[in-house]
Amino acid sequence: FQGRTSFGRNVFGCPSRWQSSMSAWVIDQYGTNEVLRPSQEVPVPAVTSATEVMIKVHAASLNPLDIAMRGGYGAKLLQLRRSPVSVKDRPEFPLILGRDVSGVVVDCGSGVTHFSPGDEVWAAVPPWKQGSLAEFVTLTEYEVCHKPKLLSHTEAASIPYVASTALSALVNAGGLCRDSSSNKRVLIIGGSGGVGTFSIQLLKAWGAHVTVTCSHNAEGLVRGLGADEVVDYTAGDPAGHLEVMEKFDVILDNIGEDTEEWAMGLLKPWSGSKYVTLVTPLLLNTDSMGLLEGTLNAGCSLQTKAIQNIISRGVFYRWGFYAPDGPALDEIRNLVDAGKILPVVEAQFPFTQVPQAFQKLEQGHARGKTVVRVA
Ligand code: NDP
Repeated sequence: FQGRTSFGRNVFGCPSRWQSSMSAWVIDQYGTNEVLRPSQEVPVPAVTSATEVMIKVHAASLNPLDIAMRGGYGAKLLQLRRSPVSVKDRPEFPLILGRDVSGVVVDCGSGVTHFSPGDEVWAAVPPWKQGSLAEFVTLTEYEVCHKPKLLSHTEAASIPYVASTALSALVNAGGLCRDSSSNKRVLIIGGSGGVGTFSIQLLKAWGAHVTVTCSHNAEGLVRGLGADEVVDYTAGDPAGHLEVMEKFDVILDNIGEDTEEWAMGLLKPWSGSKYVTLVTPLLLNTDSMGLLEGTLNAGCSLQTKAIQNIISRGVFYRWGFYAPDGPALDEIRNLVDAGKILPVVEAQFPFTQVPQAFQKLEQGHARGKTVVRVA
């Protein structure tokens, strides 16, 4: 084992052959913050296939999904994704949360071509895989990307999951891309959190005109990131303020609730404009109704709204989802290294204070991201 030092680590921090366990925060049941448990006995996620890459985690960040998953959100669908054949394939617990990682490659499968031990990488960890609140995480090569050179691990960990979500929502569902966004009018409902602060910067880098809704005390932040127009939803009647503006080509809704009742009317009619919401009932439905009925119910709801909106106003109604896409993060890395996208880290916690990091996120009113320093 080349480069091995004593005490169980090689020069890249890779666990040696005799290290079989690692430190991680796990949950053994769903619930509130009390279910988070530190453990030093979690099996190291060794590389088991030719395309896998094992990463020593330096920093992770939290997303609203971590709080929801801690409480059991999406449990049925995610367990099906983990173990499509039999639930015995991969037990649900202990479950490691944490969807972002910035770290260093310590081991690669025999077929990995883009990475070598020692490479600094970042990635969004799919929710059906063991998360990044751990010493090590193992992903496929496709899910991993070289980290931006200009960012520390703490800064880099604030970006991958919201970037993958925003890219999937804006590109796949919203029909935007680097070459088609110039002067497009985009409204971001909820611009001050993780997805919002990233999306503003991406859309500005692509040349779009960006309007944002947020609280009064977030206006400076979103304007600093490039937002052209800002509507303070806490002043009341955001729909009224937005209605007097020129209509939009794309709306990205990070809030849900009653927003879609008024947002559809803000789109340019009969011109291919699109409303994309990240707040969908799919996983809630499968949790409460079961996989088949829940999926069918969500599918019917989506189809009904899509048809109603296309017939009545000529606008597209769509759902946006996180999608794993390492290569897409390459484009983001280039924008970060060019200084066009900045990390927005609101709070940092050491690995010993993961429950405090969850508490912070649970209080709401995020202004960017909450990061956990792991190494
Ligand atoms: P955050 O918690 O980071 O940010 C939410 C932001 O919205 C906060 O800044 C909050 O600040 C602001 N906000 C709250 N209410 C309103 C409102 N009525 N109008 C405008 N702004 C408001 O969340 P993320 O950005 O990470 O995620 C956004 C949503 O997208 C979440 O619901 C998340 O679960 C979902 N999501 C879905 C994914 C998918 O695959 N479908 C993937 C990723 C995220 P304040 O309260 O102070 O105004």
